[in-house]
Amino acid sequence: MRTRSPSSRDCARALWILGLTPPVSERDLAAAFRARISKAHPDRHVGSTTLTDAATTMTLALTEARSVVSDWIASGRDWPDGSGRRVLRFDEPEPWPEREPEPEPAPVCRHTGLRRGDRVRVWPYDGDPEVVTGTERDARGGQAWVLLAGAGAARAERTQLAAYSCPVCGLCAGPVEAGVVVRPCPTCLIDLRRLEARPDEASRIRSGIEARATTGRLAAERLEDPSLTDRAERRRHWARRLRQASAEDLHAALLGAFGRAFERWSESRAGAE
Ligand SMILES: [Zn+2]
Repeated sequence: MRTRSPSSRDCARALWILGLTPPVSERDLAAAFRARISKAHPDRHVGSTTLTDAATTMTLALTEARSVVSDWIASGRDWPDGSGRRVLRFDEPEPWPEREPEPEPAPVCRHTGLRRGDRVRVWPYDGDPEVVTGTERDARGGQAWVLLAGAGAARAERTQLAAYSCPVCGLCAGPVEAGVVVRPCPTCLIDLRRLEARPDEASRIRSGIEARATTGRLAAERLEDPSLTDRAERRRHWARRLRQASAEDLHAALLGAFGRAFERWSESRAGAE
């Protein structure tokens, strides 16, 4: 149970879970909550303990998120920059100097799946990874840009996430020397949104996860990292087992896996790994 007033980090995460972009009214909140809870409610998964657990986890997360956003609306505070609306200007000084002793987890950009502190390689992807300082979108709503520490910006489609391992699909990338961050890959973040909007896509999403796990295992072997190999292999088995699941069970299992991965990652501080 929450006893303190929500931080901007809590609010940003709650908005993300509910798929909301601020500013949000009580009416928007109620509609988003209803739409999501109807897919996650444990009563829909009676008869399968594992899936009921996953659905219960999602239901709790959604209920908590609704409460946070509701408190936020009531407080009248400014909305956090947690849903990709914040636009950084190139000439704006970075608002996050090291003097902040306990930085909050950076918000995740809805368009790129990246957040500050992520490391990316820029096309042709053979150089050293660069650290992401933020993302930006053209005013006309088209091109997404990834802002890089000390080196301007790169088009989002010309960057690849580096030094990570996805706990859902097992996809990974090096370098591993300085450690990798365990985080949902950008494709899994897109898949989570797709799944929420189109539950009938679950089967296609499962196939994609299995394919990515195979790719991830090959990548991990090239990196000679047993823990990455092991994760990709386990995710591949998980995805294969779900071939037999009913549509309803598959949907709940995927939603649970995505939800847990996102929760765990959003709790971790950017650059702390
Ligand atoms: Zn993934």
